Amino acid sequence: MEATKVSLKLFIDKKSRRVLFAEADKEFVDFLFSILTLRVGAVTRILKEGGGMVGCLSSLYRSIENMSVTYIQRDKDKRFLLEPNVVMPGAKVPLLLPNVGSTFRHLYKCPNQYKYSNCSSYVADDDGTICPKCNSKMDQTVTFIDPPSVIRASSSRSSEEGYVVGMVKYMVMDDLEVLALSSATLVSLLAKFNVKEIGDIEEKVVDVGMDEGVKLLKASLQSKSVLSDVFPPAKIIIAYG
Ligand SMILES: [Zn+2]
Repeated sequence: MEATKVSLKLFIDKKSRRVLFAEADKEFVDFLFSILTLRVGAVTRILKEGGGMVGCLSSLYRSIENMSVTYIQRDKDKRFLLEPNVVMPGAKVPLLLPNVGSTFRHLYKCPNQYKYSNCSSYVADDDGTICPKCNSKMDQTVTFIDPPSVIRASSSRSSEEGYVVGMVKYMVMDDLEVLALSSATLVSLLAKFNVKEIGDIEEKVVDVGMDEGVKLLKASLQSKSVLSDVFPPAKIIIAYG
């Protein structure tokens, strides 16, 4: 699969060698916001395959992988737990994480859907849910077709896709607080960071691809300085201090 890349402009404090904040377009902010839509099972799978699981979720995941189907309810499929779908209805975001958008998902309808028109308007996640109209078991499988919920940055995008509006720049703090960029926020931020001269700040443009996407996801679970952790400003220019 062709990798997506979006770019990010980092503002680095030359003295402390920390990322103060980043200037980002809509694409990066859409990606960050989409992290909140991921199911924990999807996060576990992504981080497990990226070799960087946090906490004990990987043992939980491995337990399901290793458990014989003898112990799993006959009408359930382990894949539902191991390959949870990433559902981002109507919100296309840049593809910066692997294994998202899997199409495995079944839904269930009432067997009387053709008999009573009221029954046809219900759909359930769980096999055997009782139809609220006729009390039958909803066990007619329908397959959910996940619309392509992720896109490549190179493809044409309308500004209505994703979560935030385009044509605006955003500021992303080191702890992933996101703000719309305005001269007022910029001035108050520079004051907050005690930046006296613009020369104290170094700008650096970085590419964010899938590797960085996984690192950002992992860091967001365990760090308050995500941008500095994922894009460590080079420590080579010691002469500045
Ligand atoms: Zn029904």
